[in-house]
Amino acid sequence: MVETYIPKFLDEALEIVSKRDSLLFAGGSDLMIKNKSWTGDLNITKPTVFIADIPELKEIFIEDNTLYIGACATIDEIMESDIVPRYVKDVVETMASPAIRNTATLGGNICNSSPVADSLPLLYASESSLVLEKKGSSRIVDIADFITSPGRNIIEGDEILTKIILPLNNFNKILFKKVGTRNSIALAKLSFMGMADVDENNNEIKDIRLSFGAVAPTIVKNKHIEQEIISYKKLDEEKISTIINKYASLIVPITDQRSDKEYRKEVALRLLESFLKSLC
Ligand SMILES: Cc1cc2nc3c(=O)[nH]c(=O)nc-3n(C[C@H](O)[C@H](O)[C@H](O)COP(=O)(O)OP(=O)(O)OC[C@H]3O[C@@H](n4cnc5c(N)ncnc54)[C@H](O)[C@@H]3O)c2cc1C
Repeated sequence: MVETYIPKFLDEALEIVSKRDSLLFAGGSDLMIKNKSWTGDLNITKPTVFIADIPELKEIFIEDNTLYIGACATIDEIMESDIVPRYVKDVVETMASPAIRNTATLGGNICNSSPVADSLPLLYASESSLVLEKKGSSRIVDIADFITSPGRNIIEGDEILTKIILPLNNFNKILFKKVGTRNSIALAKLSFMGMADVDENNNEIKDIRLSFGAVAPTIVKNKHIEQEIISYKKLDEEKISTIINKYASLIVPITDQRSDKEYRKEVALRLLESFLKSLC
């Protein structure tokens, strides 16, 4: 029999994980797949801590122009929140199916750390950070430093991801595209998030963020290229082609059952081109 814990509060959960090498179970939508044996039974052997209903992990609020989302807020709860901006909802509502969105959490999507996770291009582009808590201390890490390779991240066994910190910038041009076999209930072949703040008086680019999912071992986002675009202020055909060439060397997809590498690269770069042209 696997030991199971259903802590009511965060302190209690942190106490348990500080003492036992355990498995955190939020919505379970990734865990149920990963731990299914060939007979269909669940094959979990570690003490399991159910964290989905801990109130501190479900809070969603805005403070100082920053959106805080509790790690165990479900995708449905994020979609139904009155304070979550539309562009955030547009991203999460492409995930899975209504039944899965009802239990799947944002924290689980991040901690599963798949390069195809739908929330990640948005979180990278927004330069979000994560609050990792353990008994007696906490640390804040940038999302880009959290995920190290497919399925791997830097969270320690006695830590819980408690909050996602998403800065709310004044982006007035936003494009999110998840390219999949269907609009939802399909994992992404690739995804693209472009966000820019363009001055409405003179059309100059004041800020820009570009990220790509499922085209490299981790999400592709490059601050140097973004800064270069900002320094141009305005784009033309030649500058756009220079930028596309720079991203072409960072986009190194693989071929798998969902798509092939040539298609992924071509479409990712076309989405980039289309977004950059929309800023001209
Ligand atoms: C049919 C189906 C369709 C899907 N479609 C999509 C899709 O379209 N897009 C997409 O991105 N994903 C999809 N997924 C994957 C999955 O639903 C998401 O990744 C989901 O957000 C995971 O959240 P969860 O709460 O269920 O995580 P869980 O399965 O509970 O946990 C996932 C991992 O994160 C760890 N974890 C969870 N919460 C925490 C925390 N707070 N602190 C530390 N570690 C934690 C767990 O220990 C585990 O290792 C799909 C899954 C299924 C089964």
